[in-house]
Amino acid sequence: MSVSRKITEAREGVDALAEYRKLPAIDTLLHEPAIALLSAQYGAAQTTESLRTLLAQARQAIATGQPAPLRPQWAGLLMEALAQANLPSLRALINATGVIIHTNLGRAPLSQAASAAVAMIAGSYSNLEYDLTAGIRGSRHQHTSSLLRELTNAEDALAVNNNAAALYLVLATLCAGREVLISRGQLVEIGGGFRIPDVLRQSGARLVEVGATNRTHPRDFSEAITPNTAAIMRVHSSNFRQIGFVAMPELSELAKIVQTTNAQNGTAVQLIDDLGSGTLLDTSLYQLAPEPMVQQSVTAGADIITFSGDKLLGGPQAGLILGRRRLIEQVRQHPMARALRVDKMTLAALDTTLRSYQRGTATQEIPVWQMISATPDALEARIQGWITTLHTFGIEGQVWPGESAIGGGSLPGETLPTRLLAIASAQPNIDAARLRAQAQPVVCRIQQNHLIFDARTVLAGEDGALLDAIKAIFS
Ligand SMILES: *Cc1c(COP(=O)(O)O)cnc(C)c1O
Repeated sequence: MSVSRKITEAREGVDALAEYRKLPAIDTLLHEPAIALLSAQYGAAQTTESLRTLLAQARQAIATGQPAPLRPQWAGLLMEALAQANLPSLRALINATGVIIHTNLGRAPLSQAASAAVAMIAGSYSNLEYDLTAGIRGSRHQHTSSLLRELTNAEDALAVNNNAAALYLVLATLCAGREVLISRGQLVEIGGGFRIPDVLRQSGARLVEVGATNRTHPRDFSEAITPNTAAIMRVHSSNFRQIGFVAMPELSELAKIVQTTNAQNGTAVQLIDDLGSGTLLDTSLYQLAPEPMVQQSVTAGADIITFSGDKLLGGPQAGLILGRRRLIEQVRQHPMARALRVDKMTLAALDTTLRSYQRGTATQEIPVWQMISATPDALEARIQGWITTLHTFGIEGQVWPGESAIGGGSLPGETLPTRLLAIASAQPNIDAARLRAQAQPVVCRIQQNHLIFDARTVLAGEDGALLDAIKAIFS
């Protein structure tokens, strides 16, 4: 050990002893009126525990040469610590990343009407499985199937926990112990290690890969069909895009193969379409590539269609299974349908979301579609307002052009031109972390030593909270 280090330690040692002595006993603190009030609010056990932690932290701070907290500071320190410890684990936050369907940030935010419906149903009894007219047991499936039928022209529909569950249940019901043909180009991993071939194997179905990675032709399917084939399955490529020398049969071509085969051989091969996101609205109206629409799959002749509730549909987490009445009935009867069923809050949100489509007001009411349809001009005007407010607090921001992403495994590589609020930062990683530590956390991006906030994904009504968070860390 160097001489200078020894001297420093010795000097600190003298100071430290005096500081250690200033640390009050827990009992003494508990008798302070402000702390007694906190103890009444949060409970004695938690308060004592927090004081113990704070005292340990104070001892550590003293060991590094800092002074002990002053006596009047303890109540404030304790209040902060207790508030922090009592934050819920799952919290609302502001998504300024510009990724509209951000799986890590909870995918689609619900419409106001859908959120209100969830709150209403969550806090009371409901006719979840009760027929109000007859006064007898009903089915929870009645709450979504008729609306989904009406919106898509499918014969029947069923909602389960999520699209992964939907796929599993469909394959387990219709394909267990038999073959399912999928193009090599569609054996995708969606994210979080979720791979279509793994789900398929778990369901008890046998995967038969057809075609090449880049090119699959209709005859690849027709030649692979055997008496043991249960289904041909199309899987949306989700989060990647193939370009160059590529080919994939249209869904209608696959439907024709299935029909011809079944007619010739008296078999019952099914055409299953995993749309991934799926959409009821036409994305090409918003300068985006056309994302396959649910209605188109029904028209093209898919026997079973599955998609997510919380991607482009803009509703709650759910897996929607649409298709032929007889097949949906079989899926509903599978023992695992019970294990994968949706709860009343999901059904409330789903029903309310679907009604926005029924009324033709989805783009005005459903956040995902409000965000997709927001124009760069409107976003720029909003950011100019933010900049004016921030300026009065001595914070300077600029408008930058940028790109928002759709996310959620829909429209891979497609972006929407957007406008960003850019604020220069000497320590962007630290400032971004402080934004995430706010009571209502803000998640933003970092670019060229600037914090970047994409106005597109900041929900209407969050402007004030966003500006408060920025003010808190920059002024
Ligand atoms: C997202 C996705 C899934 C999984 O859907 P979850 O609702 O997340 O379970 C399955 N298949 C495809 C093609 C997807 O894009």
